[in-house]
Amino acid sequence: MTQKNLRKCISCGEIKPREDMIRIMKEHSTNVIFTNPNSKTFGRSVYLCYNLSCIEQAFKKNRLNKVLKTNSNLEKTDLIKLLQDRKG
Ligand SMILES: [Zn+2]
Repeated sequence: MTQKNLRKCISCGEIKPREDMIRIMKEHSTNVIFTNPNSKTFGRSVYLCYNLSCIEQAFKKNRLNKVLKTNSNLEKTDLIKLLQDRKG
């Protein structure tokens, strides 16, 4: 396994392969927040485990918005939906 594809969860600090994590990105020019954006989108990204407790922790004390330096209206339920979609 190559190191470059590993990412750290902002909630629990665990390091996992990028494809096993939720990516939350603030698009560089518009400040729009994307979850699991396609590769044509560029901006500041953070990663979370596909894990309810990590999602909940990211929304405590507005942590996610602080890390992304934004006031996005991203909801916890938006990420929980990704979690459910992945479980299929
Ligand atoms: Zn985590």
